[in-house]
Amino acid sequence: MADKKNYYEILGVSKTASEDEIKSAYRKLAKQYHPDLHPGDKEAAEKFKEVNEANEVLSDKQKRAAYDYELEHPGMGGMGGYGAGSGGFGGMGDFGDFFSSMFGFGGRTATHRDDSGEDIQLEMKLSFMDAAKGCVKELSYFRNESCPACRGTGAKGGTAFKTCSRCGGRGRVQIRQNTLFGAMMTETVCPDCGGRGKTIIDKCPDCKGKGSIRRETKITINIPAGVDTNSYLTKRGYGQAGANGAPAGDLIVVFRVEPHKLFKRKNMDLYLDLPIPFTVAALGGTVKVPDINDTFDYQIPEGTQSGTVFRIGGKGLKTRNGTGNLYLTVFVEVPTRLTREQRKSLSEFPRPDLKQYEKSKKFADNVSALYGKDPY
Ligand SMILES: [Zn+2]
Ligand SMILES: [Zn+2]
Repeated sequence: MADKKNYYEILGVSKTASEDEIKSAYRKLAKQYHPDLHPGDKEAAEKFKEVNEANEVLSDKQKRAAYDYELEHPGMGGMGGYGAGSGGFGGMGDFGDFFSSMFGFGGRTATHRDDSGEDIQLEMKLSFMDAAKGCVKELSYFRNESCPACRGTGAKGGTAFKTCSRCGGRGRVQIRQNTLFGAMMTETVCPDCGGRGKTIIDKCPDCKGKGSIRRETKITINIPAGVDTNSYLTKRGYGQAGANGAPAGDLIVVFRVEPHKLFKRKNMDLYLDLPIPFTVAALGGTVKVPDINDTFDYQIPEGTQSGTVFRIGGKGLKTRNGTGNLYLTVFVEVPTRLTREQRKSLSEFPRPDLKQYEKSKKFADNVSALYGKDPY
């Protein structure tokens, strides 16, 4: 991110700045560099652009989280890069849900209307296997739901309104404002009705005029195979209720995938360390190798060295985007205790013929060249 601007520095706020601090810093700077006040000043115009760009990212919870992640983990560009379009997952047609990696914003836009409800972000822990294979999870959380009795309007029966007397139902009023260019009449949202053009006569008894009721929401979410830490799923309309019957915000479930005792993962590929007895390494043999569903037989070839990596195609994760591989790293283990018989038979094994030990041979040659002594 060497070429990325530091949005926090641009707005002059700390990395832990609250939403309000960001908002007020932005307002101050936007006013300071506004092009109307600096006609023809290219530097101010550039500054104004920068300030807007910084605000666009830092004022959006999701964009800010992704930006913070990128700031702390520079060089993760290979995983999609900040703001680089969609992540590893496309739309989930069946639920109208939406999947993407935390590094890209997919098709999600941040253009909520003012009255729309706020998004709710929840974190969900998933076991390694649930994330690898996909699963269905129940989730319950509290949110403000649109009041059904008044359809979110806050007015009794959804109809107890009268036309706003201040704006005559227009929702906007003219006000006189003193500006740098003199007194001007400008139009603004009516302060009495908040732009609705109507005021409530009788408040809805269920929600006491608020238009929403706080209650527990339970949903079932269908998690496809292959989600990873920082992948998230968006349930449209499962966030906080909007004001005045406007659409609700979204529920954003961010996943945290727990580690596994055997496997590691990178996208769709699985990685496994496989210890094998030195006799299997020397003679070859069949071992039972685990994948995410079961075990399968795998033939270790004769003369396998410690550290050898076998790539086994198609034994990784099976996701909508394809199937990964299993990478098996072999570690040759020598017994720490031998029985008397084993010791006897091993001691009868011929002394190493260095023609059979490539690395030992090279090492011996180098030591000999240095000091004229044979290490073995
Ligand atoms: Zn009004
Ligand atoms: Zn109500």
